Amino acid sequence: MKKRILLLAGGQSGEHEVSLMSARSVLSALPRDQFDVTPVVISKQGRWLPPTETQRALESGEAATGGDLVLHRVASAEGYDAVFPLLHGPMGEDGTVQGLLTLAGIPFVGSGVLGSAVSMDKVMTKQVLESAGIAQVAWRLAVRREWQQNPQGVRDRAAELGFPLFVKPANLGSSVGISKVGAPDELDGALNLAFGLDRRVILEAMTSHKPREVEVGILGNDAPIASPVGELRFEADFYDYETKYTEGRATMHIPAPLPPEVAERVRAEALRAFLALDCAGLARVDFFYVEETGELLLNEVNTMPGFTTTSMYPKLFEAAGLSYSELVTRLVGLALEER
Ligand code: ATP
Ligand code: MG
Ligand code: MG
Ligand code: MG
Repeated sequence: MKKRILLLAGGQSGEHEVSLMSARSVLSALPRDQFDVTPVVISKQGRWLPPTETQRALESGEAATGGDLVLHRVASAEGYDAVFPLLHGPMGEDGTVQGLLTLAGIPFVGSGVLGSAVSMDKVMTKQVLESAGIAQVAWRLAVRREWQQNPQGVRDRAAELGFPLFVKPANLGSSVGISKVGAPDELDGALNLAFGLDRRVILEAMTSHKPREVEVGILGNDAPIASPVGELRFEADFYDYETKYTEGRATMHIPAPLPPEVAERVRAEALRAFLALDCAGLARVDFFYVEETGELLLNEVNTMPGFTTTSMYPKLFEAAGLSYSELVTRLVGLALEER
């Protein structure tokens, strides 16, 4: 019997369009002799679109409007064997949709409520990984109310980290809302931008030198495996939205040209982080490798990483011998696995 899969895409975050790109790839890769796939695009307003409007949004790659409230539609998801919530960022990758599906009793691809929520929030991630003894950059938390009532307190806390530093919304992705702040006079602008997108903002010390950016894929539930390590190279000052999504701005190197012991450390630390955060199914774990000092610092864990056929995560497993369509099939299998 074919498995019925509901593929959710789009969503309410700043990564709506990125998700549509990923969904198009997954849709054409899930083997039709095993799966019956129904895509549903969620609009930026959070409405679940009916089939024709979903099709239109997938084809045009554009945000759509119309559709029903989530809670009206989730009951109709009941007939599915599994859901693939191919959503990035808040209201999709952060445990909200995972909670809805858990309540509805429908198995789904990827991390559950806890792993999704903790991994989405860069501050919570840092706290959990700190307690697991995983090396990271120095950081501080700031909340919006404080920024409104005592901005100088926030500026002082940032200054403790030294310049340049990074200011980031705690719950976002694709570098949306992230600034590299070179000097104190650029700080307010960066904080206003980040607080416009999130109640919680993380301030991060920059690595001691421009880091090498290495990433590893994790696949599995309670006994996960790590892919080979990949590296991103680009000319830009940091890996911002434009560099991520403009063709030709960045190159992917798989495997990353690293000393074997460094690559092994990356894989081992990534597996430890995956388990410490209670992730499931898949995650892409990103690191900074500071060649000058030999430091390996964990940057973040993405529980629903970019998933087009040319994205890092599928490419890493392709290098391990797993094709894109074998990978998505494996992910559905993991969703259905007893834990
Ligand atoms: P993703 O699209 O992978 O989810 P994101 O939006 O969660 O990304 P980060 O990975 O936290 O954002 O940061 C984006 C980029 O900014 C990094 O890839 C790196 O180039 C740069 N960067 C972020 N933090 C630091 C830091 N502390 N030191 C040096 N560079 C940094
Ligand atoms: Mg991220
Ligand atoms: Mg992300
Ligand atoms: Mg990142």
